[in-house]
Amino acid sequence: MEFDTIAAISTPMGEGAIAIVRLSGDQAFEIADRLFRGVGSKKLSEVASHTIHYGHLIEPKTGQVAEEVMVSVMRGPKTFTKEDVVEINCHGGLVSVNRVLQLVLNQGARLAEPGEFTKRAFLNGRIDLSQAEAVIDLIRAKTDRAMNLALGQMEGRLSRLIQKLRQEILEILAHVEVNIDYPEYDDVEEMTHHMLLEKAKYVKGELEKLLQTSQQGKILREGLSTVIVGRPNVGKSSLLNSLVHENKAIVTDIPGTTRDVIEEYVNVRGVPLRLLDTAGIRETEDIVERIGVERSRQVLKEADLILLVLNYSDELSEEDRNIFKAVEGMDVIVIVNKTDLPQKIDMDQVKELTKDYALVTTSLLEDKGVDELEEAISSLFFSGAIEAGDMTYVSNSRHIALLNQAVHSIEEAISGVEMGTPIDIVQIDLTRSWELLGEIIGESVHESLIDQLFSQFCLGK
Ligand code: GDP
Ligand code: ZN
Repeated sequence: MEFDTIAAISTPMGEGAIAIVRLSGDQAFEIADRLFRGVGSKKLSEVASHTIHYGHLIEPKTGQVAEEVMVSVMRGPKTFTKEDVVEINCHGGLVSVNRVLQLVLNQGARLAEPGEFTKRAFLNGRIDLSQAEAVIDLIRAKTDRAMNLALGQMEGRLSRLIQKLRQEILEILAHVEVNIDYPEYDDVEEMTHHMLLEKAKYVKGELEKLLQTSQQGKILREGLSTVIVGRPNVGKSSLLNSLVHENKAIVTDIPGTTRDVIEEYVNVRGVPLRLLDTAGIRETEDIVERIGVERSRQVLKEADLILLVLNYSDELSEEDRNIFKAVEGMDVIVIVNKTDLPQKIDMDQVKELTKDYALVTTSLLEDKGVDELEEAISSLFFSGAIEAGDMTYVSNSRHIALLNQAVHSIEEAISGVEMGTPIDIVQIDLTRSWELLGEIIGESVHESLIDQLFSQFCLGK
């Protein structure tokens, strides 16, 4: 494939001591050579690939030194884009890196669109689509675990699994083909049905397993959306503050005037919590009062985790009981706070309401019980059979949608066989599921989808 030469700043803007301007394309060496004066006499287009060179960039019009740089030279196809790549390392200041970028653009490079480097890697066959999407996730990864998930996907874990399952479907299709070609052999048909059902059920099972991980995957990526509830004065704000202060706050949204819910990201033992605060929780307490009953119901409904706070030094009230009712059936951790004060609450009653939710006692004032709470959060999330790390997670909503459709097609095929539907109808469903899985890894995808996906990238990736 033929592409023009693109350039962009590929390090975060305005941060760090070093910034990199990256060039990719046929003209990359040529453009760099017109600007670069190194200590050696060799041109960059002549040096060994994958070497780094110290020197200066010259403003060609005036011959003046513009910048002190280190230049990495990487000849395609052993590069991220499979094209010739030059990376110019310069001082990290905004002025300096923009000057370098400008020099390069003046020499005929085109400013890369967001995600265009990764898009080229994809179009040049260096990575498949799910790997490219993982790069997006990596850029946005909010915790180490989310990072590992993205890395695993980038290394092709999901791709390999999908490929394996597609292979299984292909084998079924091959047998079906034989059956269609030789319909006169009854025992071939017998065998095909038997084999088809077995294999199709296996593939369906594997896809469903993968889908089961999607909840965890999504949470790792987007954060466990967590709402703190409780009546006024029990310690909700204190809890929020304590979680935010004791843990690395990941992102703090700038309070918007249009949005009524503010999010705080914290990393609790590898579980990213998206603490949903209302504009009011900190000052005026009451989520319901602040954003209205309907909206708060909505927020509650969308929550993955409820932290329900009670007051140790007050009796259980009707309001407390109503809150328990409102969150019934959800993942709840009950927190009895203010244990430093005299006990007035009846813990037997609390336990009755708590049922099989986790129960933690805290004194946020004395900083007690917060560890236990964090333990409860983490074990709730990582409970059961799900072991983070060595699993293939699906976290991308596009992948999840495709997997669901693929499962549906396989189900159609299975029930078709069971009901004695003609085999060429079954074949259509199988082929469909094979195609749907192909879309996850970028085979048979539309051009427009590709553009849309890659435009989500940061500039320079
Ligand atoms: P909210 O209305 O549920 O958000 O409760 P706040 O977090 O605003 O706390 C209400 C009051 O209780 C504040 O004066 C807190 O300092 C105090 N408070 C919070 N946690 C504790 C605790 O564990 N022990 C005691 N004695 N006071 C607490
Ligand atoms: Zn408060």
